[in-house]
Order: sequence, then structure tokens, then C-alpha cells
Amino acid sequence: MATMTFSIDAGEIRGQFPFFQPHPEMRSVIYLDNAATTQKPYAVIEAVSNFWAYHNANVHRGGHGAGAKASELYEAARERVAKFLNAREPAEIVFTRGTTEAINLVASSWGEAFIQPGDEIIVTEMEHHANLLPWMRLAEKKNAKLVVWRITEDGRLNLDDLRTLLTERTRLVAVAHISNVLGTINPVAEICRLAHAAGALCLVDAAQSVAHMPVDVQAIDCDFLMFSGHKAYGPTGIGALYAKRALLETMPPYQMGGGMVQTVSWERVVLAPPPAKFEAGTPPIGEAIGLHAALDFIDSIGRDAIEAYEHELTQYALERLQEVPGLRLYGPVPDRAGIFAFTLEDIHPHDIATVLDTRDIAIRSGLHCAHPLGERLGGSTARASLAVYNDTAHIDALIEGLHQVRKVFGYAG
Ligand code: PLP
Repeated sequence: MATMTFSIDAGEIRGQFPFFQPHPEMRSVIYLDNAATTQKPYAVIEAVSNFWAYHNANVHRGGHGAGAKASELYEAARERVAKFLNAREPAEIVFTRGTTEAINLVASSWGEAFIQPGDEIIVTEMEHHANLLPWMRLAEKKNAKLVVWRITEDGRLNLDDLRTLLTERTRLVAVAHISNVLGTINPVAEICRLAHAAGALCLVDAAQSVAHMPVDVQAIDCDFLMFSGHKAYGPTGIGALYAKRALLETMPPYQMGGGMVQTVSWERVVLAPPPAKFEAGTPPIGEAIGLHAALDFIDSIGRDAIEAYEHELTQYALERLQEVPGLRLYGPVPDRAGIFAFTLEDIHPHDIATVLDTRDIAIRSGLHCAHPLGERLGGSTARASLAVYNDTAHIDALIEGLHQVRKVFGYAG
């Protein structure tokens, strides 16, 4: 194998994470479950903890300095997300609990208001349940049609197939930027272009992409895009929905409560403009501030650099995975993200994960919240997924571990 020289020093990056430091009560783990959630750098933990310790107050309410400071930090986080995604303005960013809530918000609000009986919503066969079940429910409720864009044998989406699925009744194409199982990187800008040409809107689930590559909502020209903080080195309980301002203006609120109205009388409710209209109740303030720090962390390395590094690491992993007899990898090769779903001989994926866990290697196994895709692939898979703090030594350990799994289950060599 050719020696690789990497642009990023993953060891130095691990130094920024408490999870990777020696701890008297914890075993050191090779963490390869980043598609489920990433570890958190000190900078994020400190930002959240500083907020709780020194700046805690509710936002957009108190007539006191602490409230003003909390509001300032919260709105600065929104500006940071807008800049990160290259949104036109912070008002296009709605904070949510994560990707799941953001998609549910769109399905409940936009879907309830604009989907009519007989309308069509296109989803792909590779969607996570988060980008599937809200549309299934909406279609059922509205007597609309859910149209499935099937994947190719090698786990891609064929744009010609989309061309044949789009009709004058198509209202929305909902697609993952990167598949959380196959690692497929979908051509979302082209998909949005085709959707728009057919008069439909385009929603991009960026849960698996924002921490791994540049994502520019204006370049993609999506109508909706969402991600979760916790998959991007940030806290759980926070995520963001990007939507074009004109859409947010026409969409009804998702939940009603404090903070999302201008005036209320018994006769009349005057809603606040977006994004406040969609943020009823006390928002996740500390979590938004943690997300701000997480995006700063990502950009301190650089998303181009992260993409290039993870691409090299992915190529290394693809090459090494081939060495394991009886391993079947799913998804496209070599052009893909660092998410590797695989089976090994006829060993149950849970057993693979369990044996690797005894060697302190963390991967995931199962259907990865994508049951229809699992059905297409023939069942559960084991899944290893990379982040910027992983390196070739982690992949070497995984390969060695997989050889060990084979031995434990009685496979020769
Ligand atoms: N979409 C994709 C592609 C995902 O991988 C996930 C989580 O694994 C989600 C949506 C849901 O994210 P969350 O659970 O953070 O809302």
C-alpha cells in the first residue's frame, strides 16, 4: 500500500477532545460511530458550561442585562449557522432540536398548508426514517402520493430516474445529502435544479454532510435544508432548519406559545416574523451556543481540508476493507463518504459489533433507522463511520478486529 501523507494531523485534533484523553475510569476507545454522533471538543463543552455558569437567563424576554446577554449569544449562534450554510440572512435559520424536528416542522407546517389530495412527494429509497416517516404520515393524512426514487444496484441515485418520476403533481423532492448507510454523496444541486424545473420544491437532509464537506444553501439552491448539532461536534438537542425567507413567510407556525407572537388578544393573534414564528417556548439556549462553538471548531480546521482528509482516509479504508475475506461492502466505490456499511460472512452484524467492542472499537450495527433500505440490502449491516479525528491506525485496528471476528466465528485465515 502506498504511504499516505495527510493534510490533517488527527492526533493533534484528538488532543482537543476530552473523550480521547486517558481517564482513570475509562478505557480508551477507537470511535468509529460518528454517523450516529460525534465526540465533543473542549471548546464546545466550555462554551456550554460558561453559558450555564455565567450567562444563564431566558432569551427575548427579560428586561435585564443577563437576558440581553443571553439573547445576544443566542442570536449570534443563529448568525453563525447562517454564515456556515451561506444563507442570505439569519432570519432563514430556525433552531430546532435536530434534523428530525426540522423535517417534522416542514412536513407539519408547509405540508399541512400546501399539500393537496393527489399531490406527489418524492423520497429516495436511501432515506433515514427522519426524512421518510413525516412524509409518509403527511401523504396518508392528505391523500397525497408518496413516490419512491429507487437506488441503483451500487447504491446511487440515477437522475434519469428522477426525470421520469417528476410530474406536474410533484410538490417536493426530499433527499439526503449523504446516505447514513451507503455513504453515497448525492448530487443535491442537480436534484434541486430538476425539482425546480418541474415546479416542485427541494429538501436536503444534511445530517451526514455538514461536518464533512462545505455545504452552501445558495449554491445548492435548496428550499429547505437541515442538520443536527450533535453529528457536527456540537451538543444534542440543537439543530437548524434553513428555509428560504419567502417560504418561511407563508408557512403557518409549527407550535404555538411564548416568544412567537407580536400581540395576542381574545380577538386576534399577530404572529412574529420568521424565525421567531417557528420557535415557540424557551429554546435550547446553551445548546445553540455550543453549536456556535462547534461550527467554529469545524471552520478552524476548514471544511475543504476536512473533506480532502476524510476522502483520503476513505480511500485507505476502502482498500483495506477489501483484504478481509467474506466482507461485503454496501454503497458506491470509490466515490463516497466515510460511512461503511458491511456484512461479514454470515455473522450477525450485532455479533460483529460486540466482538469489536471487546477490543474497544465502537461501531454500529442494525438497520440504521432506514428499514426500507435495509430491506433492499437484505437486512442488518455493521457500520463504521469516520470523523476528522480518525486516522489510518484506527482503520488498521478495525481491519485487525474484523479478522479476529472471523476467527471467533470459526472462519479460517
Ligand atoms: N437524517 C440522516 C441522514 C441521519 O443520519 C440522521 C441520524 O442518524 C437523521 C436524519 C436524524 O438525526 P437526529 O436524530 O439528530 O434528528
